[in-house]
Amino acid sequence: MDRNEFRSAAHAAIDDILGYFDSVPDRRVLPALEPGYLRPLIPENPPTEPETWEQIQEDVDTKIKPGLTHWQSPNFMAYYPASVTYPSILGEMYSAAFTAPAFNWLCSPACTEMETIVMDWVAKALGLPACFLSTSENLGGGVIQNSASDAIATMMVAARERRVRELVLAEGLEEGTTEYEERKMDCQPRLVAIASDQTHSSAAKGALIAGTRFRSVSTRLEENMEMTGPRLREVLEKCDKDGLVPYHLTMTFGTTNTCSVDRFAEIKAVLQEKPAWQRIWVHIDAAYAGASLVADEWQYIAKEFAEGVDSFNMNMHKWLLVNFDASVLFIRNRLDLTNALDITPTYLRNPYSDMGTVIDYRNWSISLGRRFRALKIWFVMRSYGLNGMKAHIRKTIGLGNIFADLIRGRADLFEIATKPGFCLTVFRVKNPQAQNSDSGAVCAKDEVADGITKKVYELINSRGEIFITSTVVDGVYVIRVVSANPMAEEKYVRNAFDIIVRTTEEVLQQK
Ligand code: PLP
Repeated sequence: MDRNEFRSAAHAAIDDILGYFDSVPDRRVLPALEPGYLRPLIPENPPTEPETWEQIQEDVDTKIKPGLTHWQSPNFMAYYPASVTYPSILGEMYSAAFTAPAFNWLCSPACTEMETIVMDWVAKALGLPACFLSTSENLGGGVIQNSASDAIATMMVAARERRVRELVLAEGLEEGTTEYEERKMDCQPRLVAIASDQTHSSAAKGALIAGTRFRSVSTRLEENMEMTGPRLREVLEKCDKDGLVPYHLTMTFGTTNTCSVDRFAEIKAVLQEKPAWQRIWVHIDAAYAGASLVADEWQYIAKEFAEGVDSFNMNMHKWLLVNFDASVLFIRNRLDLTNALDITPTYLRNPYSDMGTVIDYRNWSISLGRRFRALKIWFVMRSYGLNGMKAHIRKTIGLGNIFADLIRGRADLFEIATKPGFCLTVFRVKNPQAQNSDSGAVCAKDEVADGITKKVYELINSRGEIFITSTVVDGVYVIRVVSANPMAEEKYVRNAFDIIVRTTEEVLQQK
């Protein structure tokens, strides 16, 4: 493809992408396909001769689009959203054009410096405490990771290194000696990462990657599925009794199942109770709900992170208008990270890195090479402005409230399981026979209600008009609905509610 062919292909691709976005609301959200649909449509071997852009684009239309799950559809109300916006797509285009595996500052100074600046912008936009800024005296700063899972695993490795080092130095061993190394390796298997049973599975995976143990803190529907101080204390005390060393705690701001917020203040107070617990690395996973912090009315939550929190991550690519991947990680002391991950063979050395005056992001993440992802964040923040970003969050939270009110308005059919919030409503269909039950329990366990709710959920998704997800919390089967992508609108939320009511009535009639 030469430059003229690229120009016309790019124009055609942009027109096609625009057409795709225009058509998305009318497309079936979930493709009606069986696994393996694509292989028979694609030649077994790559083409020997060059093909034209027209041929390639035709196949995107006829073979790829029919196999897409349309995450941008306003009828997509499953999982959590994965946003994309026009300025973000432009950022991707430039990032591809400026391709460089920018592992050191020298490899592309603009890439490194823009990342530092834009991460400070994001920290300020979210109202994070100043300790997470790159300009802070405590050597804080932000870095873009591939995903929340990478961010959490990376923090666990940094936390493991920090804790093991402390333990071994406290025994009087000298760093760099064989005894030190041996003792470090002896300590590692006793370390435990802790999180609630509602924490995303990436925490357990992170512990696995860090080569440590994992213990979870139980949650209850009566406590809104939030991790509480007393339940954490039980797990910490059990670890102490078993001779294990808790070294990392994930607190979640917006759990995957129910968007619950762990009780930060209460938990931090528990961690102050013993010197060993004070040494635990505290990480906040705000992968989805963290986006709400751009709106002033939620920033009181970020104030909690000024003390007793070592790191914080959120995915702009979920709810904050930047496309995947844009997972931002902020750390209070970057030396904790670079001490764990800085391995510098001669071929990576250069005068700027040696002077220590530049940031080399390869020491802030697992991968060496990195894309110029700061561009798309910069483009989005400039194109929307903080006011545009706040407006998106407020509008979609408003849509969530409308949906929750609609569900509350049909108390004859539905029961809300956890406090609705951050656009998410979690509910179940009531067991008609149990309607007058006055047990007082929040969504008491009820196999009939579970069965009906599951049936309603499966029927709705099988019809493909909207796409929602279900889950089980504290033994109760529930449906979760979240409408927060850039195309979300009130009429789609009301339509989803009508579909849910209709389907519920249909299922109840069959009983
Ligand atoms: N943390 C929470 C709270 C999530 O909801 C998710 C995914 O939905 C993750 C972490 C993992 O995100 P990622 O796909 O960026 O690894």
